[in-house]
Amino acid sequence: MESAIDRLIEQIEQDIKNTATSTGRAHFSDQVMTAIRKVKRDQFIPPAERANAYQNRPLPIGYSQTISQPYIVALMTDFLDTQSDHKILEIGTGSGYQAAVLSNLVKDVYSIEVVPELAKKAQETLVSLGYNNVHISVGDGYNGWPDFAPYDGIIVTAAAPQIPIPLIDQLKPSGRMVIPVGDQWGTQMLMLVTKDGDGCVETQDILAVSFVPFVRN
Ligand code: SAH
Repeated sequence: MESAIDRLIEQIEQDIKNTATSTGRAHFSDQVMTAIRKVKRDQFIPPAERANAYQNRPLPIGYSQTISQPYIVALMTDFLDTQSDHKILEIGTGSGYQAAVLSNLVKDVYSIEVVPELAKKAQETLVSLGYNNVHISVGDGYNGWPDFAPYDGIIVTAAAPQIPIPLIDQLKPSGRMVIPVGDQWGTQMLMLVTKDGDGCVETQDILAVSFVPFVRN
């Protein structure tokens, strides 16, 4: 019998095909899809919503926040083009699910969350599941996490009106940032920001998306 995770992977594969014209990617890497398959999404979801854990949609995690749609997690992770020795910065820990997916792919994940209760819960979940290369900090991610900069990749999981300059500064040459940019009410554009070997920055539109807003303290 087909399991819930098999069905979810099929739906993600279908979304990948349906959005290929916009994203330019008709396939995601095997490593990314393996990481998605491996992380038990139900563990990151409050009990009341757990029955829906393997549906391909965002779900509430409290404090007016959501765990992202699995297809979007796969998309953002794929666009980071991670390698096993990478150090990644995430802004918006939320449930910790995206951090867990990345934790399977890279050496270290640094993740910042502005809601202290969510950061605490995510930390507990990640530790209890043995994800010990995820480091969480409470605060406004606008300023990044300079102590461990520069990063091979940066992933922002809340929509910012503009790309925060400190995050661009904390990206390594040849680094990649994936970030939804736009206002709180309209549709936002998921963007890829790349920095070349000389430090020149370019942006590329990936897909129209809808994220919770980036909050400033
Ligand atoms: N990556 C998360 C998705 C969480 S939704 C997951 O896998 O579950 C986005 C999160 O960004 C929310 O938890 C929200 O509180 C947080 N957030 C919003 N603005 C922020 C900011 N300026 N700094 C850090 N976190 C922020």
